[in-house]
Amino acid sequence: MAVRAARLQGRQTGIVPTMGALHEGHVSLIERARVECGFVVATIFVNPTQFGPNEDFTKYPRTLDADLQMCEAAGADLVFTPSASDMYGQHAQTFVRVTKLSESLEGAHRPGHFDGVSTVVAKLFNIAEPDRAYFGQKDFQQQLIIRRMVSDLDFPIEIITCPIVREADGLAMSSRNRYLTPEERATATELSQTLKMAQKLAAETQLSAAEISQRMQQRLSGTPGIELSYALIADPETLEPLEDRQVTAVALIAARIGKTRLIDNEILQFR
Ligand code: AMP
Repeated sequence: MAVRAARLQGRQTGIVPTMGALHEGHVSLIERARVECGFVVATIFVNPTQFGPNEDFTKYPRTLDADLQMCEAAGADLVFTPSASDMYGQHAQTFVRVTKLSESLEGAHRPGHFDGVSTVVAKLFNIAEPDRAYFGQKDFQQQLIIRRMVSDLDFPIEIITCPIVREADGLAMSSRNRYLTPEERATATELSQTLKMAQKLAAETQLSAAEISQRMQQRLSGTPGIELSYALIADPETLEPLEDRQVTAVALIAARIGKTRLIDNEILQFR
């Protein structure tokens, strides 16, 4: 009703889907939506269907009061905070699955994860009827999957991908960073440092994408306290691993530090 009332006033709606435990990365999405849209909806929903059985659903940080204050300060007009039973009826049987893009990288390490993501985002789009939706580059594979879904299913929604917001030492902001012990937090900077190294090697040497991927893997596998899931250079549209240099590519990393799984990525320009 609120979105439709705004539309009747000629205001376009922007949506920012989140799982809460908000930080400056989320705030940047809401602020961007505020600049570009007449009506801004943030959503906070820790979506059970995108967590695996051995993942952190029950202990995922929930900080609703602070989140609501941050949403208001960033300029949200409405915050949608449904319960799991609001979102999933007892008899629900329908899933949205983006096939190929969901199978590699995060999809391979977290079976079913992206089915949960694409389904809940499709539902949020149907509920909020936004004109634009804001996602972070931080979850690079996720924004590609949402773009694919929107194109394949003809959602009349423009997807906007916003830059990664980082801590001063380069660590990509994440709700899960608060799980890190001080020692793990120090180790975690290796992820963004490795991406910087890859960026420099792409720009300043003639090494192939495969060779740079190998150096990323060597560096991270050799760091005590890091259990590497993957580090590679891929095509930024298909996520296929690259052997050779191409003008634009994406370097992607996922690693476990202690019990916390972190992801990060960087666009690479080969010259
Ligand atoms: P989450 O609450 O982790 O599901 O994230 C909600 C949205 O915020 C997703 O589109 C994320 O990609 C985005 N996001 C998370 N961390 C960052 C960050 N450090 N910079 C920019 N966007 C982010």
